[in-house]
Amino acid sequence: MELTLTEKILAEYPRYKEPDLNLEWITLSDILPKIEKLKKIDSLSVFEIGHSIEGREIFRIKAGRGKTKILLWSQMHGDEPTATKAIFDLLNFLTADDQFNEFRRELLDKLEINFVPMLNPDGAARFTRENAVNIDLNRDAVSLQCPESNTLQKIKDEIKPFFSFNLHDQNRYYSVGKTDLTPALSFLAPPFNYEGTINTARSRAMKMIANLTGVLSQIIPGRIAKYSDDHEPRSFGDNFNGQNSAVILIESGFMIDDPLKEKIRELNFYSLITSFHSAASNKYEEYDLEGYNSIPVNENRYFDLMLKNGEIERNGVKYKIDIGINRYPVPLPDRREFYFKGNIEAIGDLSTYSAHQIIDCSGLSIYGEKIYPVELDTIEEAFQFNPELLNKKGFTTLLCRECNIMDEFIKMPFNIRLRKDTLQSEIKTGNPANLYLHNGTGVVYRVINGFFTASAADENLILNGLIFH
Ligand SMILES: [Zn+2]
Repeated sequence: MELTLTEKILAEYPRYKEPDLNLEWITLSDILPKIEKLKKIDSLSVFEIGHSIEGREIFRIKAGRGKTKILLWSQMHGDEPTATKAIFDLLNFLTADDQFNEFRRELLDKLEINFVPMLNPDGAARFTRENAVNIDLNRDAVSLQCPESNTLQKIKDEIKPFFSFNLHDQNRYYSVGKTDLTPALSFLAPPFNYEGTINTARSRAMKMIANLTGVLSQIIPGRIAKYSDDHEPRSFGDNFNGQNSAVILIESGFMIDDPLKEKIRELNFYSLITSFHSAASNKYEEYDLEGYNSIPVNENRYFDLMLKNGEIERNGVKYKIDIGINRYPVPLPDRREFYFKGNIEAIGDLSTYSAHQIIDCSGLSIYGEKIYPVELDTIEEAFQFNPELLNKKGFTTLLCRECNIMDEFIKMPFNIRLRKDTLQSEIKTGNPANLYLHNGTGVVYRVINGFFTASAADENLILNGLIFH
């Protein structure tokens, strides 16, 4: 079958992909040199439009001279960088000189495309959702207390965009409706009141989303969802839709085989090229609201790890349980590195949930954190410890008299406790996920800080244990 124009562009995507951005954590220092390069390109205009609380620059990059204005902003939540990367890919496409020149000229004649990459550079530096004073900018659209929020409102009032794209990442615990697929992308035309009224701007956004999901379903069938459409009066998307700028929220999702979200970055690129094409040709007008309304809704029903059909025993009574476990990244801004904290999220009948890793524990008894009975003198002794010994007996934790590591984590396949009385061996929601599973004759599995292991050979799958000081 003949490829469409946008499919041909997608096929050439590697040529436009900006190098050095395939990281989980993107800060202003990563994009500043790229913005400096863009300043030298005649067809683009780069403006400094504001500063964050800590004085970091916020930029607007303008391409095109058309009547239809488009505004896109990314990383208003500092820990959501996927679309920022895609914006630099899009700018490479828009400024290239190749077989797509005719299409490119049409876009730039009909549209004025304004990119604001990284609205929250202070949050990006810390890898937090919020800004430097821990305010969520997407709850500051009415108060407009923060300079970052003000910058966005001002630029929107100045440009008066016909379409706005509010670009985010969502967590990895959603599914597409009740299916066992996680969404690669989620969309929303945010409602501007509790009644969910559809005005011309919101209807335009809905039609554009119907257009996008129609095109995307050809390449990622079953991987597209709609974000919760509860009205949030304090958010920008909801407010802009009420101010006649059609807002399209795009949430970069999660796919287990795409840990750095490079495929999802490419899907952002494709969605936005498709949007520009549609906005320039009014293609979105051919779509109806049914196309939007029929998108399955995101449901929060995934865990990182689920142990199914295990058993616990209390006072001689046995209970069959599933355990849902998540591993949360904790950023270390001075090192630009993460460690993980594995947590028990839910216990009991979890048959309505799914997980990125599911282990059948039928016939196995589950026990909580188990501490090695001999106290070690120093952390160095712990480093020498034979993992096979820990694994065979189900030990999850070593007791250590002295530990000169100030961190809360250790890159070893066990945990460290400095005091025995802090042991959290109860299998309980909210407790750290340290478990072992026994089949009556021996230990079969261990869970160390939320990481699953079947043998000592698996210990490299445990990215870190925790130090309980
Ligand atoms: Zn967000």
